[in-house]
Amino acid sequence: MSEMPKKSYGELCPPERLLLGAGPSNVDPRVLKALGAPIVEHLDPYFMEVMDETVELLRYAFKTENHITMPISGTGSAGMEAAICNLVERGDSAIVCVNGFFGGRMKEMVQRCGGTPVTVETEWGKPVTKEAVADALSESEAEVVTIVHAETSTGVLQPLKDILKVTHEYGALLIADVVTSLGGCELNVDELGVDLSYSASQKCLSCVPGLAPITASEKAMERIRNRRTPVQSWYLDLSTIEKYWIENNRVYHHTAPILLVYAMREALRLLYEEGLENRWQRHTKNAEALICGLEALGLKMHVEEPKYRCPAITSVKVPEGVHDKDIRATMQEQYNITVSGGLSDLAGKILRIGLMGVNANEQSIKLVLGALESALKKEGYPFKIGSSAAAAIESSSM
Ligand code: PLP
Repeated sequence: MSEMPKKSYGELCPPERLLLGAGPSNVDPRVLKALGAPIVEHLDPYFMEVMDETVELLRYAFKTENHITMPISGTGSAGMEAAICNLVERGDSAIVCVNGFFGGRMKEMVQRCGGTPVTVETEWGKPVTKEAVADALSESEAEVVTIVHAETSTGVLQPLKDILKVTHEYGALLIADVVTSLGGCELNVDELGVDLSYSASQKCLSCVPGLAPITASEKAMERIRNRRTPVQSWYLDLSTIEKYWIENNRVYHHTAPILLVYAMREALRLLYEEGLENRWQRHTKNAEALICGLEALGLKMHVEEPKYRCPAITSVKVPEGVHDKDIRATMQEQYNITVSGGLSDLAGKILRIGLMGVNANEQSIKLVLGALESALKKEGYPFKIGSSAAAAIESSSM
């Protein structure tokens, strides 16, 4: 039998895209450089210093003094799973606020943990009200409430203050998903009194995907330490990960993704150098300019009330007669710009443009608006060429 010729695999050569969708965002060259630094062992004294500094910088990003603040090895969903499986035990009920795709994912995780989700359903594109949460709390025994701060699937930024107030009035704890808001949208974990929140490395932190920063208050940790049963996930049990990440006398839990932690430290160093409040302002200012540009094209925002729009992700309605897939294909194939479509019931109905981390800048706005105009023209949508960038530039924000 003649031997088959050996298959050849080409060198990895990914396209260089401008990532202006729902995440990941582009990565700062300094973060990429950190990924190429020499690896050390996960208990090497050098790495322990890196761990300590990463924890310190994460506390800065979350605006918290929480002792338990660390990156979970895994993506944002691992952070979500860690939050839920530590605080929700088999037999518990939990109030789950669902006003988008990720609220739905939290509901599924509560069920998988053996809990009973009591859902507070709200229209996709609107925030959850404190009254709805109060009603649900008054009618159930739930001691945990879950909510998404920045619902990436709709572009809603959920105000947390009033929700936290009612949650605490009923003696419950709040889990907040801050995957898309951390490092880009105003968030003050301690001042608000958020009990447990988690994020992801690849959104406004502009790091590579793979880590999920998490922070838990003493109250949350007390509930975890007093559970009736062990956390069913060995890997995500916060009270054991703590022994590796936080305690002085570190003991092996799992082999940390060393290079990802270097990258996260560098991404956080960039955040620290810029200043957290400056970062929030930069995201807000650029989102406002982008919206001015989109509105100049006659496009409508999916989140009607400006105060509920998330600065990191803008969702815009796809106009009648226009096909979102074609728009996205033109933008990606001709301009190397990635934007996202809608998820689930919003598929085909909205486009989601993310200005996250390093991408929240004037240049991205001009490029995305230019590419969008070109794609809309191809679809036969009527507008004045050049009007969007002009409106963005003229807006007081840019
Ligand atoms: N929560 C929100 C609000 C998200 O936007 C995402 C991802 O986009 C996740 C959770 C899940 O994160 P990952 O895809 O990193 O697992």
